[in-house]
Amino acid sequence: MAVTIDDLPWVGSSDLANARRQTKKLLSVLRTHRAPAVGFVNEGKLQMGEVEARTALLRDWVNAGMILGNHTYSHADFNALTVEQFAADILKGESVTRRLMRARLPYQLYFRSPMTRTGNTAAKKEGLEKFLAEHGYKMTPHTIENSDFIFNAVYVRARQGGDEATAKRLRESYLDYTIAATEFAERISPQIFGREVTQTLLLHANDITADCLNEMLLRFKTRGYRFVTLDQAMADPAYATKDTLVSSRGPTWLWRWMKSIGKDVSFDGDPEPPDWVMTSYRQTLSAQ
Ligand SMILES: [Zn+2]
Repeated sequence: MAVTIDDLPWVGSSDLANARRQTKKLLSVLRTHRAPAVGFVNEGKLQMGEVEARTALLRDWVNAGMILGNHTYSHADFNALTVEQFAADILKGESVTRRLMRARLPYQLYFRSPMTRTGNTAAKKEGLEKFLAEHGYKMTPHTIENSDFIFNAVYVRARQGGDEATAKRLRESYLDYTIAATEFAERISPQIFGREVTQTLLLHANDITADCLNEMLLRFKTRGYRFVTLDQAMADPAYATKDTLVSSRGPTWLWRWMKSIGKDVSFDGDPEPPDWVMTSYRQTLSAQ
């Protein structure tokens, strides 16, 4: 399994002290488990103030042996932009990252699209693919997604309100849901490829993931996983399947590959976060 972590330097990073503490924890857990991760950066977030300190968070990732990838400058929504506008946001979002990663050359440049939206028309999808290829980027797939941004929004609010009982319940629910999503990917991939493929996990640099990552990686190990680089995961022949699915959504690559090769596998049973979490999430959003 390869681990990828989006929205660096940190989700909700107005609290710099928290972002520092949690980045340290996240990187320490990854190193303890020898899990090489790719972190996808929104360089626009460096401009929230304290630019040097926020850039130092990214340097911590590089010093910990991780790879930094491009997640656009502003977390742009490709559905709402032309290829030219989106490409400009990708280029704007690589200057600090490329500088920090200079000592690591040569390395594979990776791009992950915000909300994993890769083109809502065939022309846009092809236009983006052409742009990425010309600039040496590979599009980054994911095969497991655990809705950590949903759990995290509720988690941050619970902790801000001093509600540790709810925070604990959320951590447990989040870990259980992560394993349910993993089991689903393990069950679906043999129906598409005739075997279990190397999984790529999509997480975010947020509080609930930092607080749960050690236990999460332990649970993966118990299931028999070992952690590989994204380069190694992408070397699995399944990842050479061309994704031709045109969609305004950003589904798992297992779905895209299944559709692209013309199979008809039922994704019924793809788990959703528990109702109580979804209800709290909607309340959290409407309170903002
Ligand atoms: Zn993102």
